[in-house]
Amino acid sequence: MSTESPLAHPPATSAAPSGEGQPRDFIRQIIRDDLASGKHHAIRTRFPPEPNGYLHIGHAKAICLNFGIAAEFIGWCNLRLDDTNPGKEDPEFVEGIKDDVRWLGYEWHDLRHASDYFEVFYRGALKLIQDGHAYVDDLNPDDMRAYRGTLTEPGRNSPYRDRPVEENLDLFRRMRAGEFADSSKTLRAKIDMSSGNMNMRDPAIYRIRKVEHQNTGNAWPIYPMYDYAHCLSDALEGITHSLCTLEFEDHRPLYDWFVDKVDLVNHPELWQHLHDAGFQTEPAKPRQIEFSRLNLSYSITSKRKLAQLVSEKLVDGWDDPRMNTLRGLRRRGFTPAAIRLLIERLGISKQNSVIDYAIFENCVREDLDAHAPRRMAVLDPLKLTLTNLPEDHEETLLFSNHPKDESFGSRQVPFARELWIEREDFAEVPPKGFHRLKPEGEVRLRGVGIVKCDELVKDAEGNVIELRCTLDPESRSGMPGADRKVKGTIHWVSARHGVAAEVRLYDRLFNVPAPDDESDGKSWIEHINPDAKRLVHGWVEPAAAQALPEQRFQFERLGYFVADRIDHRTDAPVFNRAVTLRDTWAKQSG
Ligand code: ATP
Ligand code: MG
Repeated sequence: MSTESPLAHPPATSAAPSGEGQPRDFIRQIIRDDLASGKHHAIRTRFPPEPNGYLHIGHAKAICLNFGIAAEFIGWCNLRLDDTNPGKEDPEFVEGIKDDVRWLGYEWHDLRHASDYFEVFYRGALKLIQDGHAYVDDLNPDDMRAYRGTLTEPGRNSPYRDRPVEENLDLFRRMRAGEFADSSKTLRAKIDMSSGNMNMRDPAIYRIRKVEHQNTGNAWPIYPMYDYAHCLSDALEGITHSLCTLEFEDHRPLYDWFVDKVDLVNHPELWQHLHDAGFQTEPAKPRQIEFSRLNLSYSITSKRKLAQLVSEKLVDGWDDPRMNTLRGLRRRGFTPAAIRLLIERLGISKQNSVIDYAIFENCVREDLDAHAPRRMAVLDPLKLTLTNLPEDHEETLLFSNHPKDESFGSRQVPFARELWIEREDFAEVPPKGFHRLKPEGEVRLRGVGIVKCDELVKDAEGNVIELRCTLDPESRSGMPGADRKVKGTIHWVSARHGVAAEVRLYDRLFNVPAPDDESDGKSWIEHINPDAKRLVHGWVEPAAAQALPEQRFQFERLGYFVADRIDHRTDAPVFNRAVTLRDTWAKQSG
């Protein structure tokens, strides 16, 4: 039941570059107006995930919005675990969610659980019954559905709808005492079975479920429905602006109905016991405002499907670097700053859209280009021997760590007679326009000088296994020929000093832009990109091997990499590729 046309809210000025002024989306405008009019003096928001999985990139939008607003205006943001659905929820996910929110760079005011309020919800339900706004229904779930009607036909009143208040109170107390079997009775709101909004057709408030709960154990045999618990949790915490995604737009009338009918602000007897238990609460009337979800191409943003990838072992767990969970992105080498940049660029609006994954990758490149020191690594090694250097030749070259930022300083890179170069930087039969190494050809070795390929060494099958080259001494730094131009420059690692590394080359998990779109008759699982993970063994310069877990680098000419936060060791380095230097998908698809 939208009361506002989506067009009433133009998209935020998403082109604003990072840090240029404050975001000016329609939600922030509402908040500015509420502060200016004196409706609110402080802004209170919350981020309310259900702990039934780990957070994904879509959640990052809600996190940045809620915590961002609390930080920009005078206010705070709670982290509330929306745990009203026992059975699917797990304390492991609670810990993971806390970890991920902090990793993104945010700190909550209070950590709450919807289950902290179970007693409040129960008392609120008794009040609704007493006021004639709720009744216990004996219809079974199938009949209840049939009575509900359809979008074009009104529903019918349940035969139990007019039970006297005393009978309802008695039955509901006995539901709470555990006297009835699962699903045999339901507490329902008495609203309007002919409402044009299906959500208002006597929605369920409580159902019987004798299931252990991750926070409250077996204390409760009945559990509140989301629509009832969520708005009351907001009201109880004094949330001023309850920001949620567009699918809740039609639930807003019900949200307001429960808040008004339970009326926590004027009924402290419903929640005062929380104070005795140490909770600060100052109930207020919250306002729900909806915004569009973040959808990314080549990705899935549904916890259920992400959970399926994990349980069917199609990925190596929730933190698999191919997953767009926050922990997957973290392990992949993506940065909190890049994720925040993406969210800021996209802005907040009511327009649903799918964001091109390349925009996300570009945010990662932009952040890492500025913040990742440079190193050299060779991922597909071919030996190059400089025959005019003595066998024991060894020197240390000084390399700057960042071409555009002197504050990164410099490092020592060992250089010797035998080097590794990338196999693809040599071609025995070069294609036209090939500017790297070829027989009799010359190339610049990054930071060293110009080398000429004199001779190829091949194995029994005819594969090139070594290039024998000479280094032009006149082309070295400080020599008269140092400026001599050759077309190509390639990177290298000293064979004697390089450290063997495992390198995991990651790419997009799906090979089509809309894996969820099943109109082609294929399941989303069939669109998993089999090349999204490739393992190679290469060589890295010593300064790269010394990395701390989670340290990120640009490996020159190869891309941005991170030392794996779990498996990396300085004597057995493991790097994950976050992203290539340039978009390799654009030319494939277009
Ligand atoms: P999923 O469908 O993946 O299970 P959900 O919406 O059920 O997601 P919750 O844990 O209930 O997940 O979400 C917590 C908060 O994050 C909610 O306010 C929800 O609106 C928001 N959120 C979830 N997914 C997205 C998304 N793709 N874009 C923006 N906000 C999102
Ligand atoms: Mg949900």
